[in-house]
Amino acid sequence: MAYSYLIETAEMLFLVDGGMAGTGHNILDRIAEIGRKPADLLFAMVTHGHADHFGGLAEVQEASGCAIICHPSHANTVRTGGSIVSPGLNVFAKIYERIAHFALPKLKLDGLRRVIAVEDGTKLHRFGLPGEILYTPGHSTGDLTLVLDDGSAFVGDLVQGRRIPKITPPEFSIMAVDEPAMFASWRLLLASGAKVLYPGHGSIVAIADILPVFRRRAARTARRKLRLTAAAAHAQA
Ligand SMILES: [Zn+2]
Repeated sequence: MAYSYLIETAEMLFLVDGGMAGTGHNILDRIAEIGRKPADLLFAMVTHGHADHFGGLAEVQEASGCAIICHPSHANTVRTGGSIVSPGLNVFAKIYERIAHFALPKLKLDGLRRVIAVEDGTKLHRFGLPGEILYTPGHSTGDLTLVLDDGSAFVGDLVQGRRIPKITPPEFSIMAVDEPAMFASWRLLLASGAKVLYPGHGSIVAIADILPVFRRRAARTARRKLRLTAAAAHAQA
C-alpha cells in the first residue's frame, strides 16, 4: 500500500513511515538483512497520520522501542490508533475516500507510545542524522517532509511518484484537505535543496521532474484567478 524507508547511519537507523497494520515484520526483516538490530532503530517519523503510513509501526516499536516523530496535529491519532481520511479531489479519489471512511475504523490500529510532536524546521544533526524536518501541509493537516543534507527528501503523500515509471508524471496528491497549502508546500520543497524525492506511493522521482508539474499548476491557478477577476469586473459593469 505505501512505502517505508529505512535510513542507515553508523550511529543509528531512522525509519520514515511504517506501512499498513500487519506489515511491520517486513521492516524488522530488512533491519536483520542489513546486519543491524531492532534496538538500532531510534526514531520512526510518521509523514502523516493516515493508516497506511503508521499502521505497521506498533509491531516495529514493540521490537525496537523506537520513538515516534509526527506533527502535533496528528499526535493524538498516532497515540490512539485513530483513523483520518483526506477528501478526494477526483472521481477515483472520492471512491477511495468513501471506502476508507467505511473500512478504516474497522481496522483497529494499535496506538503508539513515546510520540514526539515536532514543528517545522526540526534539525536532526545532533542525533547523527544530517537533515531537517519541514512542515508541508495540504494533503493532510499534519504532513512532514524529511530533507537530508545530501538532497534526499522523504515526502510522504505530498508528491505522488510515477505510477508507471517513465510514463506517468509525478503528481500533486489527488486527496487533499487544502490545495493552496499543498501548492505552497511544493514551493517550499522546490526551495529546500531537495534533489531526489522518495514518495509514499509510486516510484522515486527527481526534483527536476516535479518542476514542470508545479509550473503547469501555477499557470492554471493564474488563469483561473484572471477569469474570476474578469467575471467580477463584468458583473460590476
Ligand atoms: Zn495520506
